[in-house]
Amino acid sequence: MTAPGPTTASGPEGSPADQASALPPSADVVGSLSPSRASDFLTCPLLYRFRHVDRLPEVVSPDAVRGTVVHKVLELLFDLDAADRTAERSEAMLEPAWEQVVAERPEIAAQFEADGLDHEAWLATCRTVLARYFGLEDPRRLEPAERELYVETVTGSRLLLRGFVDRLDEAPNGMLRVVDYKTGRSPRPGFEAKALFQMKFYALVLWRTRGVVPSVLQLVYLGDGVVVRYEPDEADLLACERKVEAVWEAISEARTSGTWLPRKGPLCSWCSHRSLCPEYGGTPPPLPAADVAPGSVDGPGPVDLPDPVSLPRPPGPEPGRSAPPPPPPA
Ligand code: SF4
Repeated sequence: MTAPGPTTASGPEGSPADQASALPPSADVVGSLSPSRASDFLTCPLLYRFRHVDRLPEVVSPDAVRGTVVHKVLELLFDLDAADRTAERSEAMLEPAWEQVVAERPEIAAQFEADGLDHEAWLATCRTVLARYFGLEDPRRLEPAERELYVETVTGSRLLLRGFVDRLDEAPNGMLRVVDYKTGRSPRPGFEAKALFQMKFYALVLWRTRGVVPSVLQLVYLGDGVVVRYEPDEADLLACERKVEAVWEAISEARTSGTWLPRKGPLCSWCSHRSLCPEYGGTPPPLPAADVAPGSVDGPGPVDLPDPVSLPRPPGPEPGRSAPPPPPPA
């Protein structure tokens, strides 16, 4: 196999990230990485291969679609006048948001129908999750600086880091708060590192592009109404940068060798590719020829979309934590 060589910023298919990128198509980067892709590789290199090299289709779960729809409502909610940002108005936005998602991806409706999913019951779960948001924040008191913000930067080793930030709040003094909504449940205490990695990744990119270390990274878990907050510093973000570079190096080595090892774990239960996984008696398909072409790029994929899907929490006791409604940045 051929090692990934210098390539351009844009993938071949023009993902949302490619379309949002301010980099010229000829930008000289070695590849691109988003928090989700990095996280996929850290979870299981073979999963990364199936998703981002083979680009195999995956079953879209009702939970994942709920995440997409609720994210859409929370994005559009702030288009309304502040006084109108009520739970009732947001609830009325659910069905149009669902229709918008289905218009973009009709296969989701087809799959729901084939699975015999009760649409009304599923929509009710969306309402429950959305209602929980209003117990955590009062959107009438917030004016986000940005929503679904595409961020990108190129590291010293010419790696393009990019992703979409759910919400960015900016205080009059320039302090930044990065907010990410998760429609799943919060991780158990001590298991927040994975989610915080994503947030530190965004903070790193914002620091590199704006020169400001965000003051607060805030994860809003709508599955159980918990808010996790973290105050990063420069050392955190430098450590994150080293980790991201190391992940990219490992991905490049896997591409060069063609060796993508499975890493069995609790999340295998939710993996769409178990039938192809050696850990479950399967055989991966041959690697696509395009992956070995010089200049191949870590191209577009689900990870380049806003990431509404919260992976299931490993079994364990409830967090037992509650959080007060977070105030806006000072
Ligand atoms: S089943 Fe588990 S080990 Fe196999 S590819 Fe999926 S996540 Fe990796």
